[in-house]
Amino acid sequence: MASNESLETSPSVVRAISTAFGTLHRYPDPLATTLRRQLGELHGIDERCVLVGSGSDELMFLLATAYASAGGSVLCADPGYWGHEFPARIAGADIVKVPLAGWTHDLQAMEEHAVDIAFVCNPHNPTGTVVEPHLLDRFMERSRARLVVVDEAYIDFADDPSGRTAIPSVSKGRVAVLRTMSKFYGLAGLRVGYLVAPSDVVVTLVTIRQPFSVNHLAQVAAGAALNDHQHLRRVRERTLTNRDGLRELFETAGYDTIPSQANFILVLADDEAGLLSRLETAGVVARPGSDLGIPGAVRVTVPTEEGLAMVARALV
Ligand SMILES: *Cc1c(COP(=O)(O)O)cnc(C)c1O
Repeated sequence: MASNESLETSPSVVRAISTAFGTLHRYPDPLATTLRRQLGELHGIDERCVLVGSGSDELMFLLATAYASAGGSVLCADPGYWGHEFPARIAGADIVKVPLAGWTHDLQAMEEHAVDIAFVCNPHNPTGTVVEPHLLDRFMERSRARLVVVDEAYIDFADDPSGRTAIPSVSKGRVAVLRTMSKFYGLAGLRVGYLVAPSDVVVTLVTIRQPFSVNHLAQVAAGAALNDHQHLRRVRERTLTNRDGLRELFETAGYDTIPSQANFILVLADDEAGLLSRLETAGVVARPGSDLGIPGAVRVTVPTEEGLAMVARALV
C-alpha cells in the first residue's frame, strides 16, 4: 500500500491487449493518434492539444527539459511530488519550494514567484487535499510563471465539488494539465500518461521526445480502459468506500488523518517508525512520511477489502 496503484485492471483491457499481439513486430504509432483523438473527445478539446507519454513521468522530464533546463526555474509545493522537482534538478533548473499552508498549496505565496514552470498538484500527493477552485483560477490568472502545470493524477477520486479540473483553462494559454492512467485507470504497469496543453507547448515537447516511447500495447490498453465506463464506476465507488473504511480504522486506533480526495490517506503519527512496523507485522507496507518530506506521517494507499482486513489486524 505504498504506491497508490488502482484496485484492479479492467477485463476489457486484458481482452484488447490480447487482440493486439499479432502486430507486435511493428513500431507503435509515434503520437498514439487513436488514443489522442479519444482523449480530445473525452475532454472536449482539439486533439492537437493532447500529448501522450510513457507515464506522466516522461512528460514531466520533457517539460523540465524544454522549459527549465540550464538555469531555468521550477516552483512547487513543499512537500511535493518528486516528479515535479527531480527532472528539473537533473535538467539544471533552480527549484523554488513553497511550504503547504493547512496541508494544502499556499497559492497566494506561490503566485509571487517568477519561474519557468509552476507545478500545482490537485489533489496533492502526499496530502490528498484539493485547492479551492476560485483560488486556483486566481493563481492561473496572476501567477508570474511562464507555464502553470496542474498535475491531476488523482482527480478522478475526488468527490468534493472543490476537486475541479483545470482543463477548461488550457484554452486561455499558459496552463497545462497532466493526467495519468496509472491510478484510476489501473494501468501503472503499462506506462501511459498525457498532457493537455496549448498546441504550441505540445509541438515543442514533440520535437524533443523519443518517437516510440509509448508502446503499442499501452496505447491499445489505454483506449480500452477509457471506454469501460462500468468498470471505472465500480473502481471509483469501491475506492471511495474503502477510503472511508481505511480512515475509520486509523481514527478508531487513535491516529489523526488528513481528509483525502485521492486514493491514499496521510496518517499522522509522531512515532512514524512505530506505526510502520505495526503495519508490517500484518504484512502491510506503507510509505514513510520521511521519504516524502513529511516526517511524522505515513501514507497508505486505499486497498482492497482484503487489504483493509490486514490493516485492521495490524491496528488491534
Ligand atoms: C502517481 C503520480 C503520477 C503518475 O505518474 P506516472 O508516470 O503516470 O505513473 C503523477 N503525478 C503524481 C502526483 C502522482 O502521485
